[in-house]
Amino acid sequence: MASLEDLPVTTLKGVGAALAATLAKLEIRTLQDLLFHLPHRYEDRTRILPMGSLRLGDTGVVEGTVMRSDMVMGRRRSLQVTLRDDTGFLVMRFFHFSAAQKNQLTEGATVRCYGEVRPGKAGFEFYHPEYQVNPPPMPPPGEATLTPVYPLTEGVQQPRVRSLCRQALGYLQRYPIRDWLPGSLLADYQLPDISSAVALVHAPPADAPVNLLMEGCHPAQQRLVMEELLAHQLSLLLVRQQIQQRQALALLPRGELTERFLDQLPFRLTPAQSRVVEDIRQDLSQPLPMLRLVQGDVGSGKTVVAAMAALQAVSSGAQVALMAPTEILAEQHFQNFRQWMEPLGLELEWLSGKVKGKARTRTLERLASGEANLAIGTHALFQEDVHFERLGLVIVDEQHRFGVHQRLALRDKGAEGRLAPHQLIMTATPIPRTLAMSAYADLDTSVIDELPPGRKPIETIVIPEARRDEVVDRVREACQGGRQAYWVCTLIEESEALQCQAAEVTAENLRERLPGLKVGLVHGRLKATEKAEVMDRFKSGELDLLVATTVIEVGVDVPNASLIIIENPERLGLAQLHQLRGRVGRGEEASFCVLMYQAPLSQNGRARLQALRESQDGFVIAEKDLEIRGPGEVLGTRQTGMMQFRLADFERDRGWIETVREIAPSMMATPPAVHALVRRWLGERVRYGDV
Ligand code: ADP
Ligand code: MG
Repeated sequence: MASLEDLPVTTLKGVGAALAATLAKLEIRTLQDLLFHLPHRYEDRTRILPMGSLRLGDTGVVEGTVMRSDMVMGRRRSLQVTLRDDTGFLVMRFFHFSAAQKNQLTEGATVRCYGEVRPGKAGFEFYHPEYQVNPPPMPPPGEATLTPVYPLTEGVQQPRVRSLCRQALGYLQRYPIRDWLPGSLLADYQLPDISSAVALVHAPPADAPVNLLMEGCHPAQQRLVMEELLAHQLSLLLVRQQIQQRQALALLPRGELTERFLDQLPFRLTPAQSRVVEDIRQDLSQPLPMLRLVQGDVGSGKTVVAAMAALQAVSSGAQVALMAPTEILAEQHFQNFRQWMEPLGLELEWLSGKVKGKARTRTLERLASGEANLAIGTHALFQEDVHFERLGLVIVDEQHRFGVHQRLALRDKGAEGRLAPHQLIMTATPIPRTLAMSAYADLDTSVIDELPPGRKPIETIVIPEARRDEVVDRVREACQGGRQAYWVCTLIEESEALQCQAAEVTAENLRERLPGLKVGLVHGRLKATEKAEVMDRFKSGELDLLVATTVIEVGVDVPNASLIIIENPERLGLAQLHQLRGRVGRGEEASFCVLMYQAPLSQNGRARLQALRESQDGFVIAEKDLEIRGPGEVLGTRQTGMMQFRLADFERDRGWIETVREIAPSMMATPPAVHALVRRWLGERVRYGDV
């Protein structure tokens, strides 16, 4: 039997090749695609609101008589139409308007309009509202329905999508949508079947509860939300399954490399580190590709864990690639690993986008021939012409910077030939549990849940920029006492060039004010070698104060630094601030973090800085961050689309995550259901065929 998936959109009246091409931009090709193009919100145009009851930010319909209509010549010319009803006034304002519009909206005309209430010179205003002159009667109460609002693309308007969806609904009777969810599940949660849910969401009946629908909590919406979250989960499990269909080298350590490494360390692994090392050791010794995420708070000692994994791989004759998101961080890993591993007789190679020409050729040769045991660098490691002789393990540090999609893409690159490498992924920031369950469903997780002993808590101080002098004094004292400090300049939203400039100005200013101190500067526009040189000088203690942009956000490790000043912290996310703060508190000295904000702080801004002052637990802070900013920001995947849902809202719907995670593995036993659901909800966005 034919299904909605086999019926192209051109089946519908009024859809020709041109409109079909436009719809394809929204990934709508079939009637089923169209029906899963779901309204992301509704407008309530079911009743007329009294003008006197409006508040700022309200949206809705008002109706009244035009009292006057004026051309206003302010900074921008506009047409200002004042409406009144029995309860009050409202101004419609148009910055673009035709002569016909102006002539229509004359004194005495009856106008119904829909808009959002904004503050204006003349009281409350609607800018460019949709309006009707001499409107038809409103449907009687109880018969009016909510108006769905759809995501659009250029070339197709709201009314068009609405009418197409309504037309497509007409096919549902004859071609019901296949319901892949187990009936028992729907019964347990009292959820409607898929076809009824889709129909209701596109065309909510008049008696459907308005509030539930507006908030996305109607059972029909929740049924779809749950299915969408499930489809995302399944897509990740599918990727995992496909990777694990391939074999990996069973990396059985030989010799005593790891023991020798541990002997030369100036400390012992914490119990948490040992546990995670053991998880990894087990995985690596299987002929099945490891897919493991290591989470640990800032400073929990993930690098040593990575080194232990690398040594196990190398000692069994495999090569290792370690990738970090920034040059600075990759460079630091390179230096650490070199210091640890060259004495053990291992060969390391460095590769970033800035390695060119002969040096690059030589590096590539040494990787391809197997002469080099370890390659450390940036994403340049995964360019097409980079080949390994026997790549056994890929380690990716500070993963969340890359985004989910990139993570999946990297896997393709890492996998050459018949064997897939083991994969170890380390996150910079703790990830809230529900988010991790959903965004990293394809990975096993280990958590380093304890910091090395002897760490002193970092005292966090929140202070307005007006007290800059005191802050400068504090820096002077710390440095004169033999410690070192960071001064972080932030200017987000502005260009990188401006950021760097601001850091330059600040550095210059601090040099003048702190004549006895050696002040260094790093920012994103320096050459890699210049950056490395400044970092080296800071590390060796030659520089007292390091002025930096947020390039130092991740991973930089200088235990003698005990003070960090962060300018404009109110503009950064909590997780990022926690990362920055984590640059100090790594040594024996009491450490301080000064958050120097621009007054006045918004209420939200105050709450955020407060949260940071009160907690040093990255997991607690990550939960707060998720609450305040949403998952896209927290994971850094806003651009990548992977965590962008059609209907689901991570905050509102996180209650489903646990359920979805429970049912997903058993659904994997039914591949047609898995593929159908993934295609239905993720379309072409995920390549899962040939990982
Ligand atoms: P992160 O988890 O943030 O990447 P690092 O691996 O950079 O942390 O480690 C932070 C610091 O802690 C480094 O100076 C490292 O040498 C040190 N360190 C790691 N493990 C231990 C340990 N078990 N005992 C003492 N210090 C440790
Ligand atoms: Mg690190």
